[in-house]
Amino acid sequence: MKAAGVSVDGCASDWIRAPCNRRQRMHELSIAHSLVEIAEEAAAKAGVTRVTVVHLRLGVLSGVVRDALLFGFDVATVGTRLEGARLEIEEAPLQAYCADCDAVVTLSNPQRFRCPRCDAPCGRIVTGQEIELTALEYEENAPEATAS
Ligand SMILES: [Zn+2]
Repeated sequence: MKAAGVSVDGCASDWIRAPCNRRQRMHELSIAHSLVEIAEEAAAKAGVTRVTVVHLRLGVLSGVVRDALLFGFDVATVGTRLEGARLEIEEAPLQAYCADCDAVVTLSNPQRFRCPRCDAPCGRIVTGQEIELTALEYEENAPEATAS
């Protein structure tokens, strides 16, 4: 028997799904730890010893408190390849699929899940809940000879 309805929106394991109904500092700290773990793994695979910037996409409905996450990130990176790295957060807008318009529409009001074009209720969120690691910037481990 297969579990149904589990969608990761076509994205790979870089995604972190987090419960968004709890507002606790611990929440952001554990997200930060997960992020650092994933970034560390990616950096290790790429043979990178020092990550300088971590890019994150944060949905407006992710339930994550930005400042708490930044703080948690600084704590979680200590002693890792990411220590001292900057966390760049890009806010992802709330987008939903409208069946009536057969289109993905951007909802400006997270409290009101209705299509801005036709006013039909939009149940399926496309973006806006994600906590997604999008890119890492790092220092190249300069080999002996580098072309200038
Ligand atoms: Zn519509």
